[in-house]
Order: sequence, then structure tokens, then C-alpha cells
Amino acid sequence: MLQGKVALVTGGARGIGKAIALKLASLGADVAILDAGDPALSEATAGEVRALGVKAFAARCDITDFDQVTEAVAKVKEALGGVDILVNNAGITRDKLALRMTPEDFDAVLSVNLKGTFLMIKALYADFMKKRAGRIVNIASISGLMGNAGQANYSASKAGVVGLTKTIARELAARNVTCNAVAPGFIETPMTANMNQDALQEACKAIPLRRMGKPEDVAEAVAFLAGDGAAYITGSVINVDGGFFMR
Ligand code: NDP
Repeated sequence: MLQGKVALVTGGARGIGKAIALKLASLGADVAILDAGDPALSEATAGEVRALGVKAFAARCDITDFDQVTEAVAKVKEALGGVDILVNNAGITRDKLALRMTPEDFDAVLSVNLKGTFLMIKALYADFMKKRAGRIVNIASISGLMGNAGQANYSASKAGVVGLTKTIARELAARNVTCNAVAPGFIETPMTANMNQDALQEACKAIPLRRMGKPEDVAEAVAFLAGDGAAYITGSVINVDGGFFMR
């Protein structure tokens, strides 16, 4: 259970982030949602979190901008009293074959998925150190582990998230702070709804568990890593992909 804990979820307004916010709230955590999208959506999700009997705070924040990140984190701390669990979930895709991918497409995806994750960790690093406690869960992707045609930018960013996760795990282990990653496969969200549906259906035929994942499947793994049961796990990557990528 997560009573008395505060969880901060980036990109928490919808999709996987929303499922994570609701799962952590259902376990008793107060939840902060930082999202760059429509504030009304973040507020609606915060309302669903509150309906579970815990506190919620939502703010608009583009995680690629360190000024916005530091300001938003300060507001979260003011509203909820500190952060115990950081879930770096916000992410974007700009899929194209590398031949057609522009330098801007590459930078945009690296900026949100990798740099944004780093900036969030940086903004809370000293707090976690001082508390000698904390959980960081980064949402990677199997695309970062196995590559995926059309996702040079996305795969590179998510592989970077795995490297970042392991480095932060090593840096903060002596302070009793864990840092792990969850690598989803194909999950039913607005992100996959925007993909080429024929290609998606073809890929899904290769999923051993014979279905796409649900945001709640990812949220379960995050909740485990955020909870007491995962106290001795750090620097690891848990795949939530129906067996799509097995090493
Ligand atoms: P969605 O696109 O449904 O949701 C992502 C959320 O992140 C949106 O609310 C979006 O807001 C927000 N966001 C985007 N950019 C920023 C930013 N710069 N700062 C703050 N918030 C931002 O994605 P999913 O729920 O599908 O994905 C969540 C995570 O899971 C991502 O990291 C993704 O890479 C990863 N993942 C998803 C998979 C899938 O199959 N869906 C598979 C593997 C990994 P806005 O409205 O502005 O877009």
C-alpha cells in the first residue's frame, strides 16, 4: 500500500500515465499530474484520482523545459508536501523511416523522451538524496531494447532511458533510492491509435499472449516497482509486452 506517499506522474492526463495515476491512487498515494496537453484533461484525471479518496494536483508542464520543470515541481511540493515516487511516463513518437526523418523529428523525440526524463530526475534528485528514500520508475519501450523500423528517434530515446535508469540506479542506491524502467510492448492508447493500423495488426500476430496490452497492465508493473515489495530491485527493466520481446 502507498498511503502517505506522493506520486508524480508525467504525461498523466491520459493513456498509460492516467492508468498509472489511478492505480497508485487506488493504493493510497496522493498524485500529482504534470502534462503538456489540454489542462482540462489533466484536471479531469485529477478529479478521477480525488474520487478514489486521495489528494490530487495537476499542472501544465512541458518536461523539455527545465524552468517549467523546476516551477512545476515546486508547485507539486507546495500542494502535496514532497515527492516519494516519480514516474517518468510522458513520451511522444514521430515515426518515419530514417531516410525521411528530419533532424527536427529526431531532436523532438529525444527531447521529450530522454531529456525530459533526465530533467525530471534532476529536479527531484537532491530531495531524494536528502530523504534517503524514493522510487523512480521510467517508462521505456521494447522498441528501445530491440529496435523498430520507422522509429530511429524513438528507439534511440528509449534505449537512452534504459541507460539513464541504470546510471541513476547506481548513483542513488547508497541513498536507498531505486530507479527502474518498465518497457511496454503494444498498448491500447491514443499513441497506438495514431499508428498505421495494418502494421499494428500484423505486429500483434507475433504477440505470444495474443492481444495488445492495456494501460492497466503497465500500471500494475509500475505499482509493484513503487511499492515495498520492490525494495531490493534497482536498475532493472520489466517488459510488459505479452511476451513479444524475449531475450
Ligand atoms: P499518449 O500519447 O496517450 O500520452 C502521453 C501523454 O504525455 C500525453 O498526455 C501528452 O500530452 C504527454 N506529453 C507529451 N509530451 C509532453 C511533454 N513535453 N511534457 C509533458 N507531457 C507531455 O501516450 P501513451 O500513454 O501511449 O504512452 C505513455 C508512455 O508509454 C510514453 O513514454 C510512451 O513512449 C510509452 N510507451 C507506449 C506504448 C504504447 O503502445 N502505447 C508502448 C511502449 C511505450 P499531449 O496532449 O501534449 O500530447
